[in-house]
Amino acid sequence: SIIRDEVEHIEGASNAQLSAIDGIAKEFDLTVEKLREIIKYFCNEMDKGLEKTGMNVAMIPSFVTGAPTGKEVGTFLALDLGGTNLRVCEFTFEGEGVVKSKQHKYRITEAQRTGSGRQLFDFIADCVDKFLAEFVTDYSENTKIFKMGFTFSFPVEQTAINKGTLIKWTKGFTCSDSENKDVVFMLQEALNRKGVPAVVSALVNDTVGTLLSHSYKDPKTFIGIIYGTGTNGAYYENISKIKKLNKIPDASGKMIINVEWGAFDSEKKIIPITMFDNKLDRESNNPHSQIFEKMISGMYLGEIARNIILHLIDRRLLFDGYSSKDLNRNYSFETEYMSVIEADGSHTLDDTKKVLEESLNIPSTTLTDRQIVKRVCQIVGLRAARLSSTTLAAVIIHCGVVECGVSVGIDGTLFELYPHFSARLETALRELFGTNFDKVKISLARDGSGVGAALAAMLATE
Ligand code: BGC
Ligand code: MG
Repeated sequence: SIIRDEVEHIEGASNAQLSAIDGIAKEFDLTVEKLREIIKYFCNEMDKGLEKTGMNVAMIPSFVTGAPTGKEVGTFLALDLGGTNLRVCEFTFEGEGVVKSKQHKYRITEAQRTGSGRQLFDFIADCVDKFLAEFVTDYSENTKIFKMGFTFSFPVEQTAINKGTLIKWTKGFTCSDSENKDVVFMLQEALNRKGVPAVVSALVNDTVGTLLSHSYKDPKTFIGIIYGTGTNGAYYENISKIKKLNKIPDASGKMIINVEWGAFDSEKKIIPITMFDNKLDRESNNPHSQIFEKMISGMYLGEIARNIILHLIDRRLLFDGYSSKDLNRNYSFETEYMSVIEADGSHTLDDTKKVLEESLNIPSTTLTDRQIVKRVCQIVGLRAARLSSTTLAAVIIHCGVVECGVSVGIDGTLFELYPHFSARLETALRELFGTNFDKVKISLARDGSGVGAALAAMLATE
């Protein structure tokens, strides 16, 4: 059977409904042979990225060359910007792997995501100021200058641990006057304008932060990953293999590479892409970019499912042909709804009914309708998880680490909360690696990117 999940029976469905669902499932299906093809292609993309800057898979040197030992001591601020919230944190390392922290989240509004870069960075500086005033006792004495690590979860072409220009916004951010500018400089200027006594000493991607914080706990950690609003990974590379680095600091050591795999296959050459993906891409604020990310991450899965649902409605195969104003609005079918629906185990699919009839105002639904919607969510969720295995497997293969055992730290709402995501991912990896997969240890690395930024600031100022 082409359907890889446990498939629940759709009661009372017509042949037309069943064959439409079947056809869609086929388009979203990824056989293990296809996964292998994608992996091979991606390995080659990684090699190209290591050789030259500006490649599609950017393979960005992080300039983080050390790994934490767990013996670090000191106090550092960390800022984490990348999805729905801005997190401001203070971490105190006390050696022996002990960390104390204070942190606070500030919500980022749509206006801030789409305004000017200066406004965004002024808002960030405001939040740091508020955080210090509220949570940090020695702030009012105003004698010390805080050292800060900045987790910035967007593709940045880094030239030093505290320097890097934004290549492109992703995940719905479109702030003007910031692409091709140094984000540390923009942040530092905003902090200075506000009179916040902090100096930004390290800039890291969230995957790099996740990798650092996870290796603080588990020295076998080789890869850090985010499956959340967006997706990406980072790993330790031999510096001698990073051919595009001309001033090699210590050619014998390792440096963390931020892969930026969200941009993989933006030329749509290898991953089977459906009309539902193309519609999403075309209507997005970054068409032809982040194609891999758009098939996998939390920001987009609901929208792919919505496109399928609308297609079925238009063919009168769902809800008797009726949509609702709410469902017709872009991004109204949230990935969170998919989570609820995929987790709905009741015979009559009551939670699914609630989502459809109460949150989305579909006038009425039959059990068959709800089962079809659940099936659509499974199809989209399963492809996301299987596709996610490809870049992870490619990094493991590229580094040749599977035999010696490797730990992978993963963060992000999709990995943590989306039903079956991690199990489906592991199933795909087991199909790919066989029993060797026993040597791969995958664990949740919750909120690691903040600590990671603080650790990077510490490694940078040692
Ligand atoms: C960004 C990456 C980031 C990932 C996860 C992507 O959109 O390009 O830099 O690591 O999201 O947050
Ligand atoms: Mg994050």
